[in-house]
Amino acid sequence: MHDRLDFNDLPTSLAGRLTPSALVADALLRQTITEGGCERFFEGGSRLVVIHGVRPDDASVLCDAVHDLIGGTVECFVQINASARDWTDLASQRPQYVERLLMDASVSTRPLAVLSRRRTEVPGVVGTVADGVIPLARSQEAIADIVREAAGFQPDERLLARLARLPLPFLNLAIRPGMSADRMWRIAGRLVRHRPELERERRPAKLTDAKVRKPSDASVVATPQPAPERLEDLPGMGEAGRWGLRLAADLAEYRAGTLPWSDLESGMLLHGPPGTGKTLFARALAGSCEIPLHSHSIAAWQAKGHLGDMLKAMRAAFAEARKSAPCILFLDELDSVGSRDEPLGDNASYQRQVVNGLLECLDGAAQRDGIIVVGATNKPDVIDRAVLRPGRLGRHIEVRLPDLAGRVGILEHHLRGELPDANLMRLADEFGEASGAALAQLVREARGLARRVRRSMSEADLWAALPPGVLLSDAAFRRMCVHEAGHVVAGLEMAAVSGLVPTRVRVRRRVRDGEGNQTDFDVLEGIDQSRESVEAQIVVMLGGLAAEEVLLGSRSTLGGGSRDADLVRATRLATSFEFSFGLGGHLHSVPTTELASAAAWRDGERSRDRVEQVLGRCFGKAKAIVERRREEINALASRLAKTNAVTLT
Ligand code: ADP
Repeated sequence: MHDRLDFNDLPTSLAGRLTPSALVADALLRQTITEGGCERFFEGGSRLVVIHGVRPDDASVLCDAVHDLIGGTVECFVQINASARDWTDLASQRPQYVERLLMDASVSTRPLAVLSRRRTEVPGVVGTVADGVIPLARSQEAIADIVREAAGFQPDERLLARLARLPLPFLNLAIRPGMSADRMWRIAGRLVRHRPELERERRPAKLTDAKVRKPSDASVVATPQPAPERLEDLPGMGEAGRWGLRLAADLAEYRAGTLPWSDLESGMLLHGPPGTGKTLFARALAGSCEIPLHSHSIAAWQAKGHLGDMLKAMRAAFAEARKSAPCILFLDELDSVGSRDEPLGDNASYQRQVVNGLLECLDGAAQRDGIIVVGATNKPDVIDRAVLRPGRLGRHIEVRLPDLAGRVGILEHHLRGELPDANLMRLADEFGEASGAALAQLVREARGLARRVRRSMSEADLWAALPPGVLLSDAAFRRMCVHEAGHVVAGLEMAAVSGLVPTRVRVRRRVRDGEGNQTDFDVLEGIDQSRESVEAQIVVMLGGLAAEEVLLGSRSTLGGGSRDADLVRATRLATSFEFSFGLGGHLHSVPTTELASAAAWRDGERSRDRVEQVLGRCFGKAKAIVERRREEINALASRLAKTNAVTLT
């Protein structure tokens, strides 16, 4: 490959480019771009290529290699003058940098390479406009070439695996002309031990240490230890992660004395289903800000029984936090403080005093610099609005169940470099609707399975650890396909009025956690929310049941049951339609947030009849659409049964 390389006889201007690290980087880059199908980059034909799987330690050498592209070896001097951005540090992905990158890529004539640690860390807009988002190639082959050429021997698998663990710049210390295999092995080992985190790191590699070790070697079953948590290292944190990193940067300025505390956003509420990483977020935020975390649960304070004890515990928590400011004060299960809007009753006075107590503490905290209060809840609706106003916990961020890319990232995070060749995409796709906690549990179980038989974990262990779920019969699966096809066709028909555009539909024959099927919709913002629009949304929600009834002759339980089931959501919206939006025959209105507790609509048959009428009317419309378009539903259902997923846009 680099036939004419001679380390002892180089013009000085070229010496920097011909170090082992630069040569490996050059070879890696070419291999990455070729294997990734982006050869046009070499001719300056691509605008933007994103390379992921780059370790921060390697980024600067790889950036240099991009700048030198085609000029990296003595014999080849055709330079394309590409440029590169190191995005292995998450802070570099702040919106203003993303904006600048997009501007640069759109006006520059030079191709641009962006280096990122993980695929999941590439901002969506950058991934979409890039000519390619490709993984960094494995380095063993390039390293073997350099060792052969520089030192004159063929390195064995163990040595190669050890060299591949080193940051690229360290290769200049480990590979030198004329060096013996033994000495190279010792130096590389010494360098690995010098950086303990390298011992843990398992780079994607065909030739891993595990292959050549004997099974009796205890380290084969040793589990890599988790690194301390920081937001920069957490996948799937979305907006909350970005907020946290901005806060960490602001906090650094505050500590340097260049930003007053009043300019910091020092209160936020995270809301979302259990297991989505709210508590983990608080820990990682404290890690990234490098400040202490004080963690409390309001429900646990409440369990103390007496109001006085609860208020005492609350004040003590704030006082303790004040002593170690700047710090994070995490208040879990914040919904337990309740709301002063609760209807009068035994609880009302208790609730009022709890809320007032918290407001006092929060306002006190605002006056006393240095306490960042992070609240977490699954039920944001029941928290008193005064607690959530700007200046207290004014920033509200929803954490959702992770999407496919998020699930892959969370699996990678918990695998900590193990099983680099596993097809995590397929696994994450199979385990849809899983929370971060469920994915962490999956990896723990897989490790446990392997540990019990004293061998290293394999991809098969991950599959074996999946919750078994239930395999649907042919008839049940066909019903599921018809049901989803009904949503899609009703959705397409009503999209312009409802503002809901179906984008993707997915069914699963093996159902885990009751979540087998799903149609995703894009929500058109700013649509005229007329009576017709709200009714159209209900029609789309009922499209699945309508298709079951029309095409299969009867409905099933698929429409009801869980909080998010079609009928439950449709009933909620129809209730708002009648009792909150004033769109039915009456104008009286109850705030939507209070409908659940308001007696107004639950009492009496007349009220229920009003909701039932809306639902009945919409179900009729859904059935009419389904009758008219039954052929399309049949065709889509058959396709779904074969492919399991159809993308519509
Ligand atoms: P919540 O507070 O929302 O109920 P937790 O923060 O307690 O959830 O999450 C439970 C566990 O799930 C965490 O300790 C972690 O192992 C895993 N987990 C959740 N979200 C993530 C994530 N985004 N990345 C990695 N692990 C996660």
